[in-house]
Amino acid sequence: MPDTFIRRRDLGFLLHDVLDVTALTRATRYADHSRDTFDAAIDTACRIAQEKFAPHHRAADTQEPALVDGKVRLIPEVGMALKAFADAGFLAATFDEADGGMQLPRVVANACWSVFKGANVATDTYATLSIGVANMIDAFGTPQQRERFLPGLLNGRFFGTMVLTEPQAGSSLAEISSSAVPLGGGRYRIKGSKIFITAGDHELGENIIHLVLARLPDAPPGVKGISLFVVPKIRDDGVANDVNLAGLIHKMGSRGTTSAMLNFGERGDCVGELLGQPHQGLACMFQMMNEARINVGIASSALACAGYLHSLAYARERVQGREAPDPRSPQVPIVRHADVRRMLLAQKCVAEGGLLLCLHGALLSDLHEVAPTAAQRDTARLMLDLLTPVIKAWCAKHGTLANSLAMQIHGGYGYTREYAVEQIYRDNRLNSIHEGTDGIQAMDLLGRKVGTASGAAMQALGAEMGTTITEAREAFAQCGATPELAAAAHWAAQLERAWLDLEATTQALLACLPHEPRRALAQASLYLDTFGHTAIAWMWLRQALAAIRRLGDAQGDDMRFLRGKLAAAHHFFHAELPLAMGAHALLRSLDPALAELDDAWL
Ligand SMILES: Cc1cc2nc3c(=O)[nH]c(=O)nc-3n(C[C@H](O)[C@H](O)[C@H](O)COP(=O)(O)OP(=O)(O)OC[C@H]3O[C@@H](n4cnc5c(N)ncnc54)[C@H](O)[C@@H]3O)c2cc1C
Repeated sequence: MPDTFIRRRDLGFLLHDVLDVTALTRATRYADHSRDTFDAAIDTACRIAQEKFAPHHRAADTQEPALVDGKVRLIPEVGMALKAFADAGFLAATFDEADGGMQLPRVVANACWSVFKGANVATDTYATLSIGVANMIDAFGTPQQRERFLPGLLNGRFFGTMVLTEPQAGSSLAEISSSAVPLGGGRYRIKGSKIFITAGDHELGENIIHLVLARLPDAPPGVKGISLFVVPKIRDDGVANDVNLAGLIHKMGSRGTTSAMLNFGERGDCVGELLGQPHQGLACMFQMMNEARINVGIASSALACAGYLHSLAYARERVQGREAPDPRSPQVPIVRHADVRRMLLAQKCVAEGGLLLCLHGALLSDLHEVAPTAAQRDTARLMLDLLTPVIKAWCAKHGTLANSLAMQIHGGYGYTREYAVEQIYRDNRLNSIHEGTDGIQAMDLLGRKVGTASGAAMQALGAEMGTTITEAREAFAQCGATPELAAAAHWAAQLERAWLDLEATTQALLACLPHEPRRALAQASLYLDTFGHTAIAWMWLRQALAAIRRLGDAQGDDMRFLRGKLAAAHHFFHAELPLAMGAHALLRSLDPALAELDDAWL
């Protein structure tokens, strides 16, 4: 595969050299797998992404979904790509073999999915939503619901959506007003208007399975009164349900994916059925949203990888300026200029560091299921809960900033539609907004996650980082002072300081939270950013150690790849982490200005 959107070599490095995913095959669930089967799945993903997803990335953007004769029309390449995705088994990648799945660990499946996102995130989104809906029905559905909906969702005949947002209920889902009135026999009459529904209408398959949040008549107010309903576009008897497209939304990016305003029950004849328990809808939906948040992190990191590789190729070709002052000396490719290298390394740090953090999150969700002891499984879940908002928001924000650097490297050409980077940037910008905005993620991290179970998740994360720090120190002590090991030991010391600072800042913010929540939460976004930088520093130390282990035997491209990892680690610890560490003093000052500001002064 040409390295145009994600490096195949990097996926192998992250999965095997850093995360050692083959160790998962010791668990009974994955015992039939091996490194070879994992690699084969990734190779297949790369091939299909290259052949079926990447070629229509631009066409799906310029010919966005349109309403023609009352139906939503997409360019045909979208359906063909999704069929190839389904036929290769990627919809059912993590499902049991008994259900027709590949029974892949989530970490490997996510690595496969990252390739499709990097190639064409808009087309991939249809598949991602179907997988999310299938997981929800698998987890909360009755045996009959599983039987009726799962096969279609897993083989690509059905597609799925998540239907939460209403015009008056965006970040605040407590305001949801859609209603569900019991009709008897487990059926409910659904009524309400929803907005921004991704993949909300199209003709890609035989049915669309909407998962809709609505309130039962006796529902308590707020989030504790929201229930979840399965609302198929076509009912079991083949009759169209009363789900109506009120309009398509035209977006800045990700234009290939339909975004719909949907009216449920305009004629009073929209029939749905409960999924899970009454009033537990949001808790159930959070399973899908947490999964979706990892997906957002993966998408944003994959797009950062794509932007990096496009701008790297451009920087190697574009000749401009000289290294020597003599105007008769030859001009050089812009990759020779220090400022362009800075922008390339900054992107690489975000793209490959972010992707590893997301895959680490996916591995935690595997370990939550298959780790040998109950204590290990609990710890994995705690750490995943803690890291999820960081994975979502840090990767989204910095992935988009990385894409902005990719445009910058293209100079004026990057601002035109002749080059892919402007579309990649537009596609990525969504990731800070949907699945809970970055601001909401930050409040979730500070307001809920770090204090959970008296800080047990923070302690567990600190212990994990400590293991990497010790590994770096011991390697330096035992294997002699090579320049690479000396650098890694230095980075380990930096990471240790960063973590201690983060712990102290966390304590200061948590102490303020119960008495002055507005003042504490005013620091939340900067706190998440700083937390994310610390987590990414950990990811780069892990990559550096893995690269050093391999460096001895490496030659040619392999050696250059590993040297690239060490250069990026150096850049992150030298140029990026120290800037972020400046935020600790600011955070601990708990500046009340934002909380106290009079709106009239703005
Ligand atoms: C392209 C696209 C696809 C989407 N797909 C789906 C989908 O498939 N299904 C679905 O249900 N929804 C979907 N959404 C909706 C999306 O989840 C919401 O747009 C998002 O949650 C924000 O809600 P909102 O747009 O109403 O913004 P608002 O909630 O009005 O937020 C506006 C701003 O205020 C901030 N804010 C709001 N409340 C607070 C608070 N309490 N404290 C601090 N800051 C706050 C936000 O962070 C944001 O910056 C999609 C949106 C887009 C743009």
